[in-house]
Amino acid sequence: MSNPKNSSTFTFLATSDISARTKGRAVSTKDFKEGTSVGWVPANLGIGPLGHIVSGIPYDSTGDIRLLADPNALFHLKGIPNLPDFNVCFSDLVNNDGTAWESCSRTFLKNAVEELKDEHGLTLTASFEHEFTETNASESTHPFSFSNFVDGEPVGGTIFEILEQAGIEPECWLPEYAPYQYELTMKPSDPVLAADRAILLREIVRTCFKAYGREVTFSPVPDASEGGSGVHVHYGLYGRNGEIISFDPNKPGRMSKIASQFNAGIIKYAAPMTSLFAPLTVSYHRLKPNKWSVAQAFCGEQNREALVRICPTNEIGNRKPDKQFHFEFRGGDVGANPWILMGIIIRAGMAGIVENLDPVRVVVGEADSDKDSSFEGQPLPSTLEEALKAFEENEVVRSWFSEAWVETFLKVKRDEIATLEEKSIEEQCEVYADVY
Ligand code: GLU
Ligand code: MG
Repeated sequence: MSNPKNSSTFTFLATSDISARTKGRAVSTKDFKEGTSVGWVPANLGIGPLGHIVSGIPYDSTGDIRLLADPNALFHLKGIPNLPDFNVCFSDLVNNDGTAWESCSRTFLKNAVEELKDEHGLTLTASFEHEFTETNASESTHPFSFSNFVDGEPVGGTIFEILEQAGIEPECWLPEYAPYQYELTMKPSDPVLAADRAILLREIVRTCFKAYGREVTFSPVPDASEGGSGVHVHYGLYGRNGEIISFDPNKPGRMSKIASQFNAGIIKYAAPMTSLFAPLTVSYHRLKPNKWSVAQAFCGEQNREALVRICPTNEIGNRKPDKQFHFEFRGGDVGANPWILMGIIIRAGMAGIVENLDPVRVVVGEADSDKDSSFEGQPLPSTLEEALKAFEENEVVRSWFSEAWVETFLKVKRDEIATLEEKSIEEQCEVYADVY
């Protein structure tokens, strides 16, 4: 991680809110040290993507909490055109005595990671894949093309360099399928770091495009008539000390029993989790068939419309598949707080193990319920309101959060639905494209 004793004036103590907006306060880098914290307001949790505190939430104008910097999550950002160097330090929301605040999303993930290790002897590696679209671009565009890659310069190279220098470990920058769409992937790390990196990557991408007078959006549906943008989460399951425990070449999907139960939990709880991983009204225009996203919940091999995709392994030159073997959760989008998105994958996976679920059914190749009557994917909610209801009514998924967090989330999202319901889908796309 970067050294805090550098020339940056500011160190920004950052959190990501219930709508995945990055927020926080800056302190002087010369004063920043282990244990640095700044004041924060509980009611901030009730600010939705549209930028106001929603009324009727359990948090009001009273109370104080703090943003406590996590010294292991300090990033030094340098080289953003037109901006001085600065540090970002991810922080946990704590009570004034330093104990965890009941509704801190980062603590939600940290607790899930800890429980996975303590109760099940498992660890997880993860990485977030982001798709985003340039708005206001007018050159001709063609899927996956070198010309689109070149049109992304010099912004793409600048972003890649900044990420490298900040220790964010970018892996691949690619022109994607939809018009003016790009994708940026990162190398795997522990889950909290992977989610921290995801938050920062979005800000760096947006800020760099802006510095060049250009604009991007990570919105899941930037344009209702085109393909969407997902936030896919890759995850690999290992033993306490990184032992290989997921791979079993003799089982369906080459998944060991424990990996299969973990994924069975994700499929089982997919519907009540949907509002958490696809939290925007327009998210449901992405989660449809034939969009290479996710229309129903199943675990698939060689299928990019699976909610959980068993990723192919690279066995060129006799490379071994066992350690690389991992999965991809394809349902998420930018509206989901990355700590929550990562945390619910782990929580649902653990539920699959605790409930001793049958191994998840593996769909190989195309899943077409018209052609294959034995195929039973779990249906997913088709609107945000349906998804909220499924969450609200599911005791298991609700129990992962504080009651106050659940109430706040439901109120924020219902306020968002009410504000946007008069707007056409095109207008809703425009609103979210501005926010994200
Ligand atoms: N754009 C697709 C989505 O909305 C994913 C395409 C792909 O990378 O397979 O998730
Ligand atoms: Mg992609």
